[in-house]
Amino acid sequence: MLTVCHRKPHPLDEGSVPMLCAQCDDSARGVCRFCGRGVCATHHAAMPFIITVFGAEPPKSIVVGGTLWCQVCRPQPEPIHMPELA
Ligand SMILES: [Zn+2]
Ligand SMILES: [Zn+2]
Repeated sequence: MLTVCHRKPHPLDEGSVPMLCAQCDDSARGVCRFCGRGVCATHHAAMPFIITVFGAEPPKSIVVGGTLWCQVCRPQPEPIHMPELA
């Protein structure tokens, strides 16, 4: 049983500012899982979201299908090598 308290104020709440769709400025129905843009009912799309990749030969991944996607950003299908952070 999951109980959610809606009365608890959150310091990061946007207050009275409604989130808008990144493409048409209509009121957003949700937020892109990948980039955080707002997306309306017209401009959202489903995209598999890879939570994690593990193992080798062959590697396996845990994927959530039907993740909300804004169609604007471009999630990369492969992990990006970032040697400068190593
Ligand atoms: Zn839109
Ligand atoms: Zn996005």
